[in-house]
Amino acid sequence: MRVVAVAVPVPQLEALTYRVPDHLPMPAVGARVRVPLGPRALTGCVVGHPAGAVSTSGADLKDVTAIVDAEALLPASVVGLCQWVADYYMAGAGDAIAAGLPPGSAGRASAFKTRRVAVVTVHGLSVLGSPTSDLTRKQRAGLEELAATSGLDAREAAARGVSRAVLSRLAALHLVAWREDHVERDPFGRSVLVETAPDRSRTLTVEQGRAVETLASRVAAGQFSVTLLHGVTGSGKTEVYLRIAELVRQAGRQVLVMVPEIALTPSVAALFRGAFGDRVAIQHSALSAGERHDQWHRIQRGDVDVVVGTRSAVFSPLTRLGLVIVDEEHDASYKQDEAPRYHGRDVAIVRARGDNAVVILGSATPSMESYHNAVTGKYGLVTLSRRVLDRPLASVRIVNMREEYAEEGPDVVVSRALADALDLRLVRQEQAVVLLNRRGYATSVLCRQCGDTFDCPNCSISLTVHRARQGWRARCHYCNHSVLVPKACRKCAAPYLEHVGFGTERVEEYLRTRFPTARIGRVDRDAVRRKGALTSLLSRFAAGELDILVGTQMIAKGHDFPRVTLVGVISADVGLGMADFRAAERTFQLLTQVAGRAGRGEELGEAIVQTLYPEHYSVELACRQDYVAFYEREEVFRRGLRYPPMVALINAVVRGRSLEDAMHVADLLAERVLKSPAARTFTVLGPAPAPLTKLRGEHRAQLFLKGPHRGDMRAALRAALAEMPEVRRRVVVDVDPLSVL
Ligand code: ADP
Ligand code: ZN
Repeated sequence: MRVVAVAVPVPQLEALTYRVPDHLPMPAVGARVRVPLGPRALTGCVVGHPAGAVSTSGADLKDVTAIVDAEALLPASVVGLCQWVADYYMAGAGDAIAAGLPPGSAGRASAFKTRRVAVVTVHGLSVLGSPTSDLTRKQRAGLEELAATSGLDAREAAARGVSRAVLSRLAALHLVAWREDHVERDPFGRSVLVETAPDRSRTLTVEQGRAVETLASRVAAGQFSVTLLHGVTGSGKTEVYLRIAELVRQAGRQVLVMVPEIALTPSVAALFRGAFGDRVAIQHSALSAGERHDQWHRIQRGDVDVVVGTRSAVFSPLTRLGLVIVDEEHDASYKQDEAPRYHGRDVAIVRARGDNAVVILGSATPSMESYHNAVTGKYGLVTLSRRVLDRPLASVRIVNMREEYAEEGPDVVVSRALADALDLRLVRQEQAVVLLNRRGYATSVLCRQCGDTFDCPNCSISLTVHRARQGWRARCHYCNHSVLVPKACRKCAAPYLEHVGFGTERVEEYLRTRFPTARIGRVDRDAVRRKGALTSLLSRFAAGELDILVGTQMIAKGHDFPRVTLVGVISADVGLGMADFRAAERTFQLLTQVAGRAGRGEELGEAIVQTLYPEHYSVELACRQDYVAFYEREEVFRRGLRYPPMVALINAVVRGRSLEDAMHVADLLAERVLKSPAARTFTVLGPAPAPLTKLRGEHRAQLFLKGPHRGDMRAALRAALAEMPEVRRRVVVDVDPLSVL
């Protein structure tokens, strides 16, 4: 009897075994098949041919009903990578495969917008190929129409003259299968990639030259290796990437370039497009599903040498991969915050190991994990300590806001020093960037009479105030619940509602009042919601049509604006109050990156950093731009409290109707986990209420497993969860969590 292991698009489910009936050919690993699951029919992906796994009659096995792909859609190496992801991150086989499939080829959870698409089955194709068949003329025409596409929904089919009745009939004959397509949401709109021609005449700096030499020898060795390229902002890392990529291409192998978010790092993508032209494919969420699909198939056909993309590009169907570049490797957007909760950088390293490829991790502020691996010799380390053309790093001035408040009152948003510096830039017609990593107008609303605050009814968080057309609107940044802020308090009717705290909208308002002639733009998630808004703001700034750009961390990322000579940081300590052991690391990274935006052109750059904690090491060392000192200081802290990268963490969040309910289940889970013989090598912290105790109406308790061996922790957690199948769906497991809220 022939059987296949199939990953089906159902959360948290392992691969299932199905029988392949005699009238069907054996589907390849990596091909999609139609299978029944309970009352449903699903499209899954073959992940293995378990030999001898089924001993007897296999009478209880269900049959594969149709084969969607005559040949493998995913290369075996990508199927293997997905299985590694499912295992390592404790996700379902189907969750992991969905990450590897081209957009719109696997059904996803119904929370996503989906559309039903008709695709021709293998059986349908063979019928099309035979001159004689029982099809009517209309049915045959419909089948041909579909076969020419990668799938059509009913409306698209109707537009091509294929009626619903014909589609239904073809489906009933198994010539066509219905597939649920996942419609991508598009948070940033389309990024317009301005192609930049490479400057071939450019001579490398001494440090760049050495970096290229070292990396070239790694490439020549033709073996898996990982090198951390630690280069200060403006040191010319991209030039190094391009040279090494060219070498790899000449050797006939392919290059994967990963960036945190393409819309936010346009320069890298544009440079690769400029250098490699048509042989570059782009993979990211701002492309329409159709465009992504086309790009994906170009990669699958082997028509490209270079793929530039966000984390999901790590699953690109490349078959001759020789080099993986992970730019801004420290960036938190590499971690996916839904199942499978994978880290793009870490999966990239596993992929490169499997493909015998060279990895370059680039950053001005490497993650603690990567630098630790470099220090301990697991990775190579190449440093670019100077900016190109001997441009100095921006000089950084700290403004102690406690003193400022004492002298100027508690309502100060922009200090005198920063205001003066902005004034000077406007006079000199230079540009400035102002960062506040908190969006909205005010952080909360408070009744001065009774102390009532506006909290989200679904989440344990206060609502953020935004300026809206109808007045003030208070909105939850987690669940999007929103209310108009009334004139009087809901509780005591007193008309003394006060805005507390401030965000980017308030900073923008202040700057417009203070500098009425200045041209000011704002970049945060609210301001760039509309398609294309981000690209348009950034290109206007680059063209000199804006003087000041205010924004959240979005403006701190990789952009190269040569006319920016001033960077102001409104509150350097926004993240420091968080109950998160990575708070200092994040603060250091953000401040260093944003300070690196100043003085990338001819003019000297300056950064002014406002803070309540000028003595905090993350603030102080970022201002000195001393990464190594920060690493060493932070390492002592992590070692002392036994946090990553010294040990590994697994986080399990239990959701419940009430906190008692969630805590009760979490207690049971912790008890079971501790019963495992493997529990000798790790500790269990908690359970405790999660910092965001209530989120989208659900109460949350969490526990952490902490220890040197992820395998032991995973095994114990897996065994415990297997004993409590009724709660499995209420538990969210995050291996190597980046955010622990
Ligand atoms: P990083 O990514 O390290 O912050 P970039 O790669 O963006 O730095 O380089 C900073 C700037 O220096 C870019 O405008 C780039 O074109 C330029 N550059 C890079 N290498 C050289 C070089 N060898 N000579 C002159 N300019 C260079
Ligand atoms: Zn909420």
